[in-house]
Amino acid sequence: MECSLRFLGGCGEVGRSAVLIDDDILLDYGIKPGESSNHPAQYPLNGINPQTIIISHGHLDHCGLVPNITDIRPDIYATPITRHLTSFLAKDTLAIARRAGHVPPFYAQDINEFTRCARITDYRDPFECSGYNAELYDAGHIPGSASVLLESESGIRIFYTGDVNLADTRLLNGSEPQPKADIMIVESTYYGTDHAPRKELEQEFVDSIRETIDRGGNAIIPCFAIGRTQEILMILHKHGLHPYVDGMGVDVFKRFAQYPEYLRDSDALQRAFDNATIVKPRARSRVLRNSIIVTTAGMLNGGPALYYINRTHDDRFSKILLTGYQVEGTNGYHALNHRRMTVGKRVLHLRIAVEQYDFSAHSGDCELKKVVRRFCDLGGEIVFTMHGDRTEEFAAWAREHEVDATAPANGERFMIE
Ligand SMILES: [Zn+2]
Repeated sequence: MECSLRFLGGCGEVGRSAVLIDDDILLDYGIKPGESSNHPAQYPLNGINPQTIIISHGHLDHCGLVPNITDIRPDIYATPITRHLTSFLAKDTLAIARRAGHVPPFYAQDINEFTRCARITDYRDPFECSGYNAELYDAGHIPGSASVLLESESGIRIFYTGDVNLADTRLLNGSEPQPKADIMIVESTYYGTDHAPRKELEQEFVDSIRETIDRGGNAIIPCFAIGRTQEILMILHKHGLHPYVDGMGVDVFKRFAQYPEYLRDSDALQRAFDNATIVKPRARSRVLRNSIIVTTAGMLNGGPALYYINRTHDDRFSKILLTGYQVEGTNGYHALNHRRMTVGKRVLHLRIAVEQYDFSAHSGDCELKKVVRRFCDLGGEIVFTMHGDRTEEFAAWAREHEVDATAPANGERFMIE
């Protein structure tokens, strides 16, 4: 018996993840935010009619285009939070496209159809799809995130890590132990880069905020809405700081709160939000008074963060504390590397200080290598590296560990005997 793997997106890059198994099971169908050619290699899915779609988690680069293919009436599987986040993000994508006058990738009725037909599945609750037994494993990346194990009738086991974090954060426990598999598709985001120890990173971050407040400035903390806003509020609460919070991260918190079983400590998250002051858009002008402001978007490409920076960019006593990776070409990237950014038609030259803190929700280099070593120890044979800039190097490293490893290209297909 054989199976086929076809990589439609997310190869040698972060964004638009999509992997097709036997032309029948689609693992993720994401968007690449901020780029003009932002869709997977097959978009729309001309001539491909997968009967099953499994969504690993509710980030745009994994779930962003799923409502585009509800017309072929596939069975869609996701954890409850992932289903929620997928429709939440889809509505936002639709609103952004409408505002910009672009043709949206789907319409409101597609999102409704998605919500209606997506089947809720939980970690370690096996289900059958397209001739495979499937099971989701907690990936520890964001609430509801999953790795996917597929086992064919002939016994071939394929493990797709999705985005995975082995380490605990304040919001989540690290991923659960990976299962034995023959083939593994592994994310590579931080191959070659280790994260700083979390405790030291938190202290450095908090010290920098305190120093900014002590000298009379505002500390503006841009965060991704899903996961990062909540994590940062938990850190600030733990260190006795009282922030304002503004943007989509507040709505996402309300969704997380409905699923406490997916969080490490839902009471601690609730306390962190109780400790923060939620800013209504009308009240924004009253917030910038020697304050700490946690706000979206994480890469400064929109959201209320722009409002605050527009008013503080000239203030050398204030500070922007970026809390994650900044994709090349984004405002966050330019702010950090060129001390400028664009808001509407205005180019802002920044006198405000800019710092970056690596609060990643991905495994670092040593954890990614651990995932591969563990796969080998359990008798695994074939590795595909995707979702990163250095997938070739990661595959070369894996080959040194006597495993057949490949960094596929977008559109490439592999037949496995
Ligand atoms: Zn992700």
